Amino acid sequence: MTSKHTGDGTRAVRAGLPEPEAYEPTLPGPAFAAHYHLPGDADVHQGPYTYGRDANPTWTRLERAISELESPDADAETVVFASGMGAISAVLLSQLGQGDAAVLPSDGYQLLAPLGERLRGYGIEVRTAPTGGDAQLALLDGAPDAGGGPHNEHAEPQPVKLLWIESPANPGLDVCDIRRLADAAHERGALVAVDNTLATPLGQRPLDLGADFSVASGTKALTGHGDVLLGYVTCRDPGLAASVRAWRKMAGGIPGPMEAWLAHRSLATLQLRVDRQARTALALAEALRERPEVTGLRHPGLPTDPAHRVAAAQMRGGRYGCVVSFVLPGQEHADRFLAALRLVDDATSFGGVRSTAERRGRWGGDAVPDGFIRFSVGAEDPDDLIADVLRALDEVSMK
Ligand SMILES: *Cc1c(COP(=O)(O)O)cnc(C)c1O
Repeated sequence: MTSKHTGDGTRAVRAGLPEPEAYEPTLPGPAFAAHYHLPGDADVHQGPYTYGRDANPTWTRLERAISELESPDADAETVVFASGMGAISAVLLSQLGQGDAAVLPSDGYQLLAPLGERLRGYGIEVRTAPTGGDAQLALLDGAPDAGGGPHNEHAEPQPVKLLWIESPANPGLDVCDIRRLADAAHERGALVAVDNTLATPLGQRPLDLGADFSVASGTKALTGHGDVLLGYVTCRDPGLAASVRAWRKMAGGIPGPMEAWLAHRSLATLQLRVDRQARTALALAEALRERPEVTGLRHPGLPTDPAHRVAAAQMRGGRYGCVVSFVLPGQEHADRFLAALRLVDDATSFGGVRSTAERRGRWGGDAVPDGFIRFSVGAEDPDDLIADVLRALDEVSMK
């Protein structure tokens, strides 16, 4: 356990690791067991490990590590999943039931919309509004869905059971005031979950801002090498943690031990990666601001960004994330730009040590212009990376 007084880098290096023991590895290797030897009938319910779908020592270490990062000042519990979507669906499906209402962002991760449709099919009322301007606030009291759809004026609005926030939102990078929304939701008896994927726990601590659940894809910046899929849910309320854990046991979306071990290995460099990537992302955004062909430039760290004021108040250490989004004049321009880049791979996902970029519109799941680029800044030298981007833009403009 690291002390609450240590800095983020120290905490990231030591989080969740066992006390040093002579001739034992710093991070013991993954445990692949399906079942464990039991002591007989007496202590079977007290013991930590019985069957591999319930718990395993490799997850336990990673779960402690993430809890220390998400909530260094208060006890918290983490439940790890096979992917970010495993974690997200576990919260939604374990907390919501027929007749409940939930508020989701309309500009969140692209699978939230189809998942919301599925929830509607289960008899859950789903209201959606954009992240920016705290627009979800109005829906807590049963305002009509901002996305349209039939609204029965005479029906008594359903009280909201769960507010889902994604801030900064992927890929549009809008930000909302988490504390303000969480307070409003709690006044109405609703639970609050925040997707913390983009910020990472070093960039934002949703539980400190009032959220009940901090949920994330560990596939992105948390692990940072594009070599593992993972998700997690962290909460302080033991009852909520238990309900998410029970869901994992029933639905079975468990991470492989190797993935959990790899993820834990990667946490040691989290602060180095996040700081470097955030600084370079801001420098890239500043450089793109000078380009006439670039519109719709967004990065929460840019002082001129509409999200900057709120982001600066609730995000930590100048860590506004590694993503810069912007719009080029049309699909062809964007495709040629991506092809002209030499240090940047055309790939989806974000947060890795290798820079990647993609024309987000190719997936069809996000409401973005054809020329919309989501750029994920890696750990390359900032000068090299920015020079590569500016050269690629020049090449496309000259043709
Ligand atoms: C990628 C992502 C997810 C989904 O995570 P997976 O690990 O791919 O399942 C959820 N939320 C956000 C914000 C993401 O970027």
